[in-house]
Amino acid sequence: MISDKMKELVKNNSVIREMFEEGKNLKKIYGEENVYDFSLGNPSTPVPSEVNDSIIELLENQKDTIHGYTSNNGFEDVRNSVAISLNKKYNTNFNSNNIIMTVGAASGLNIVLKSILNKDEEVIVFAPYFSEYKCYIENYDGKIVIISPNEGNNFIPDLKELESKINNKTRGVIINNPNNPTGVVYDESFIKDLSEILVKKEKELKRDIYLISDEPYREIVYDGKKVPFITKYYNDTIVVYSYSKSLAIPGERIGYVLVQDEVKDSKDLITAITIANRVIGCVNAPSLMQKVVSKCVDITCDIEIYDKNRKLLYSKLKEYGFECIKPEGAFYLFVKSPTGDDKEFAIRAKKYNILVVPATSFGCKGYVRIAYCTNYSTIENSLESFKKLAEEYGIK
Ligand code: PLP
Repeated sequence: MISDKMKELVKNNSVIREMFEEGKNLKKIYGEENVYDFSLGNPSTPVPSEVNDSIIELLENQKDTIHGYTSNNGFEDVRNSVAISLNKKYNTNFNSNNIIMTVGAASGLNIVLKSILNKDEEVIVFAPYFSEYKCYIENYDGKIVIISPNEGNNFIPDLKELESKINNKTRGVIINNPNNPTGVVYDESFIKDLSEILVKKEKELKRDIYLISDEPYREIVYDGKKVPFITKYYNDTIVVYSYSKSLAIPGERIGYVLVQDEVKDSKDLITAITIANRVIGCVNAPSLMQKVVSKCVDITCDIEIYDKNRKLLYSKLKEYGFECIKPEGAFYLFVKSPTGDDKEFAIRAKKYNILVVPATSFGCKGYVRIAYCTNYSTIENSLESFKKLAEEYGIK
């Protein structure tokens, strides 16, 4: 008999994953090239050759040692190279002790939440939000508090609502920049305003409130947009990073958590996060992949490829009459349902073998998310179907 908590999770299993599985079935029926699967953020860009070369080199030169357990927080030399790379890029002053290697951002978020949450404490998220946040928070008996989607202001969150929802149960605020699913990038003035509110509320409530910055898309920005490096703005910041998207290796499960010295009781928090890695059963980040990313800390996959996809899809969908948020980062296009019903939109799109995710699952009704990290040809081939869909809606 499965637990009551798990029954709930099974019932509400990820819509994104369901779509992904459905896509695989449709491809068997109609053929790979006739299904336009925009469900999952699975990068199709080539993995940088340095990644594959490093794997081969490590397997040749360290074949007897590379597959062993590591310390819970990861190899020291790897953590050191991550710190050095960040310092070079952002003019910061981190060292290996500030870094804990993780099994991607998903486990990074889990070990952070496990380390900071007491029962019924609240974590605030901005809708639309990455749908997994809810189960991660609830895994540790926390409560998710949702700031409503700010459709009228390009989905830049309303900070007045944030301020009104911080109380003596608040333990954290999760920010995701660039944003999945909107593709919006929060600029420096937004980050400054957010930080000011958190500083004020920490003082007023006399409690630590962590800003958890979930940054798998940090490098994926367009048109010269800049993502402010968040530790500079608010002391109690914890950064969760992933190489899934920047190196196009999501199946390899590698990332890190960064806790700067300025975080209150940072040493205790780093110890807790390190032990949480073991407690939730991750033990340590994959050894081979730690060494690989350490050799690739300063590179990314070719962001131009996503930009090309973005430009084609955005311009064509606009031309066909769809209302879309112009993506500034990440690789998602947020499209308004012509009827206001996102689930109906996703079902209707499926008739044309187009798979998109209704944004109700991200806490925002009325939109769907299109993950355009596909091959360019998938986008090109899908255009006729999008056009027919627009015609069916009568918006073209
Ligand atoms: N956070 C956000 C916003 C994401 O979009 C994803 C994956 O799509 C994750 C976290 C999890 O990433 P990882 O593959 O590193 O676990």
